[in-house]
Amino acid sequence: MTEDENRKPNRELRPESGHQLRIAGTGAAITVGEQISAGGGGYLYRATDAFGTEWVVLWLISRWRESNLDQARLLLDAGSVHPAFCWPVDLVLDNELNESGILFPIVESRFQPMRKALESSASKFHVLWNVTTQLADAMDRLHDAGLCYPGLVDHEYRMFVDPNTGELSLIGWDAGSVCDTSTPYSGRLAPMWSNGEQWPSPNYDNYALAVILFEILLRSNPFHLLDEQSISSISWASDDDDPDLDESSSPTRVFVFDPTDASHRPDINDPVWMWWYVYPQFLRERFIESFTLGLSDPTRRVSAAEWHKVLNRLRHSSGSCHCGTLIIFDPQEPEKVCLGCGSTFGLDSGAS
Ligand SMILES: [Zn+2]
Repeated sequence: MTEDENRKPNRELRPESGHQLRIAGTGAAITVGEQISAGGGGYLYRATDAFGTEWVVLWLISRWRESNLDQARLLLDAGSVHPAFCWPVDLVLDNELNESGILFPIVESRFQPMRKALESSASKFHVLWNVTTQLADAMDRLHDAGLCYPGLVDHEYRMFVDPNTGELSLIGWDAGSVCDTSTPYSGRLAPMWSNGEQWPSPNYDNYALAVILFEILLRSNPFHLLDEQSISSISWASDDDDPDLDESSSPTRVFVFDPTDASHRPDINDPVWMWWYVYPQFLRERFIESFTLGLSDPTRRVSAAEWHKVLNRLRHSSGSCHCGTLIIFDPQEPEKVCLGCGSTFGLDSGAS
C-alpha cells in the first residue's frame, strides 16, 4: 500500500493476498490470491479452495455492493441457464472485514479475448459456427429465463473464445452484466439508446447480438462509417452513471446494405462485399431486418431464438469446394458459384 493510496478518502476495505474468506453456502474456506483487475463493480481476485481448485472472487465496492449482491442472489436462485455464461457460484463472506463478495468459476487459460481468438482461427469456419450458435443459444435461454445481458454491449471485454474449438465463455463479473429487466444497468451504452428505448431488455440485447454476429461473420461493422473514435465520442464519453445521452450528437445510423438507402455502402474494394455474397439470402435477410426496421422498432429485431435457428441452418448448409473455399448452399440461389474457382455448386455437391 503506498502513501498516496492511504491518503485517499473513503478507501475501500478489501482482502489482501493470503486472506481467508468463507463460502456462504458451505462455510468452506477459500484463500484470496493475486488481484486480477479492478472494474466498475469491484476488485477481481484469484482464489483457491481447500482442494486446490482455482476460482475468481469479485470483491464488491461499497457503492454497488447491495445492488450487486441482490443481483447475484437473483442469478444464484435462477441457476446457470447456459454453460457459455460464467455464472456466479455462491457468495463469499469475510469475518474481519465484515463484507461480501461473489464467487465465480475461473475462465481457463485456453480461452482468449474473442477478437484475438478469431484472428488466429480466421479460416476455421467450424469455430465461427460454434461461437455464433452458442452465443444465440445462450441469449435465447437467458431471455427464456426472464433475464437479459446488457453487458453484451461491452462484448470486447466479456466474450472469450477457445480458438481451436470455438467454445464460448461470457463473463459477467461486474454490476448488472446479467440481470432481470428491472435492474438498472450502469455499464456503457450502445449509441442508439439515446432514443429512450427501454433497457435492459431482451430487445436491447437482440440489437447488440445482431451487431456482434455481423462483426463475427462478415468481419466488419454493420454501420461501417462509425469508426472506433466516433463511437467512443458519442456514447462512451465518460464514466457518468447517468444513462441519458446527448441526442444531438448521435449520428443517423444507416445499415451498409440497407436495400432502400445506398448512402452508406462500403467501398467497392472492401472485403465485406465478398462476405455479404458468400452468405445465403436467408442470413442476409435477417441482418437487413435487424438493421433497418429493427433500428427504430425494437419489436422488429430478430430474436435470439430466431438467430439460433438461422445459424444452425447456416452451419448445416456450409461446406468446402474442391478448391478449399467456403461454400454455403442456398436453395434460393441455385446458380451461385464458388468465389475461389468459379465452379457452380448445387445442393448435391456434397456439403460436409
Ligand atoms: Zn472452388
